[in-house]
Amino acid sequence: MEAANNNLLTVENLKKHFPIKKGLLRRVLGHVKAVDDVSFKIRRGETLGLVGESGCGKSTIGKLILRALKPTAGTIMFRVDDEEVLIHELSDAELRSFRRHAQLIFQDPYASLNPRMTVREIIGEPILVNRDQQTVDLDQRVKELMDLVGLDSRYLKRYPHAFSGGQRQRIGVARALALNPDLIVADEPVSALDVSIQAQILNLLHDIQQDLNLTYLFISHDLSVVEHISDRVAVMYVGKLVELADNDDIFRRPKHPYTEALLAAVPQISERQKRETYTLGGNIADPANPPSGCYFHPRCRYAKEICKTQPVVMEEVSPRHQVACHLARELSLKGL
Ligand code: SF4
Repeated sequence: MEAANNNLLTVENLKKHFPIKKGLLRRVLGHVKAVDDVSFKIRRGETLGLVGESGCGKSTIGKLILRALKPTAGTIMFRVDDEEVLIHELSDAELRSFRRHAQLIFQDPYASLNPRMTVREIIGEPILVNRDQQTVDLDQRVKELMDLVGLDSRYLKRYPHAFSGGQRQRIGVARALALNPDLIVADEPVSALDVSIQAQILNLLHDIQQDLNLTYLFISHDLSVVEHISDRVAVMYVGKLVELADNDDIFRRPKHPYTEALLAAVPQISERQKRETYTLGGNIADPANPPSGCYFHPRCRYAKEICKTQPVVMEEVSPRHQVACHLARELSLKGL
């Protein structure tokens, strides 16, 4: 059994509902349930991949963990040394001091770096803002961070436009590492990069994780990227987790039809494999007005009557493998 204090992050029954307002009086007509009753844990030093189609709520989870958004309900517990920090309850002042422990790597290295700041200023800014660490030699620390991410520290005074997309993402990684965080939320960190550069950044993230014992929440719509870097994978659909398991189980032995459909879209080498898989039809459901029963039933090729009426809950169907599907124990689904 896992030691509880080996979990760096524990998320329980997390919800984020955005009100839909209309008219002069801004009356609330309903809610978009962007994140709806999501629970998971991330062990220290682990990478949890979070996948799903665009609009499923995965980036909202990242923002809630970093408290860029306040949850509607639920708890987010972060372990700092032997202390449990309840992120969802932090005041603004407490939040400022907590932020050094959890940092974000952005999706777009072109848009996320201030073009008027030098590399020294971009990477050094979090160090300067954090008063406790003002005694460090800033130039020395920025050079160390540039070395760590494979950037030539002679380019300290250059501006972002002088760098390629891959190098800019390295600058973003160095900035995220500036305060020695425990957790990195990487939100689609390679999706804006050329395929040839993606592998370099993924390898960099892997290497610095080993060196610094970092923990990652790696958010992506691209399963081949997630397969490459994750220890465990959570699959999300319309604000809810539908499957959560070790990497190998998700990719070789999926137990949720949505996971199977996502895997079918991953490019296959063998033509025979391609013919045996199928394409996911229809659009992702509206989180303001989801279908009854299992939210996936209008798109599921295995759906039965029960799926249209009875809600699903996450259940452990085999060791360390949770699934939210009425038929999870009887279906035999195709992995990669
Ligand atoms: Fe498909 Fe039914 Fe399972 Fe939902 S509960 S994924 S509709 S089989």
